[in-house]
Amino acid sequence: MTLKFCSLASGSSGNCQYIGSKDTKLLVDAGLTGKYIKSALSSIDIDIRDIDGLLITHEHSDHIKGAGVLMRSFDIPLYVKDTTWEAMQSKIGSTKGKDIRIFSDYDEFFIGDISVKPYSISHDACDPIGFSFINEDTKISITTDLGCINQEIIEQIKDSDLLVIEANHDEEMVKIGKYPWFLKKRILSEMGHLSNEAAGNVVAEVVEKGNVSYVVLAHLSKENNFTELAYETVKNIVEDRKIRVGLDINLDLTYRDRISRVYNIRK
Ligand SMILES: [Zn+2]
Ligand SMILES: [Zn+2]
Repeated sequence: MTLKFCSLASGSSGNCQYIGSKDTKLLVDAGLTGKYIKSALSSIDIDIRDIDGLLITHEHSDHIKGAGVLMRSFDIPLYVKDTTWEAMQSKIGSTKGKDIRIFSDYDEFFIGDISVKPYSISHDACDPIGFSFINEDTKISITTDLGCINQEIIEQIKDSDLLVIEANHDEEMVKIGKYPWFLKKRILSEMGHLSNEAAGNVVAEVVEKGNVSYVVLAHLSKENNFTELAYETVKNIVEDRKIRVGLDINLDLTYRDRISRVYNIRK
């Protein structure tokens, strides 16, 4: 079966990812305007009115600021963890009478023909999660906004056909950059974001342990990273571990202000 993936945008100015099967169309996060999301979807031939669900990873504004608009204007059901809903509901305007599906654990659930598996990650939000999406034997995982990785996450994502993983910053750029110290500390902490180097190590580990084919680097910092630097750092780390980019894995990027490549993962 086929799962389709496209990042509509990714970074601290806004995140929204599209995942679709033959029968089900989903968005992960809506940290952009409704207008942008609608037009980005139509550029890949998806009508926003056909979206079956919006899933939220955590309550930071770069992940939720368009959520209320999508619910009100296009009647898109919201899928959100109970604790995250508590933290976000006052920030997205009226959702009275809207379809809100709250879950309170990490159990797998279905939306149409896509199985959704949430998993806990470490980030300075109240209850941040990543998601895996499975349609028959095809799997996509989205793992951004996390300060560190652990074996549970590795086990969850290692057999993904396509893995979206955060490569947020270059540690040296953060240290010498102009951010105030408290912000530098936050970014570099275990509750912050993954560096390019950390992302490279995650990619190497999951490719060695599992069978990831497509790796898509996401949530690159505007201030503390460059697309080439993120790409080359991850590439060098995995190639040092004898994983050939372009042969063993495909390595790609997402962008802050435009859509990524469209992936059709087939098995
Ligand atoms: Zn974010
Ligand atoms: Zn965040």
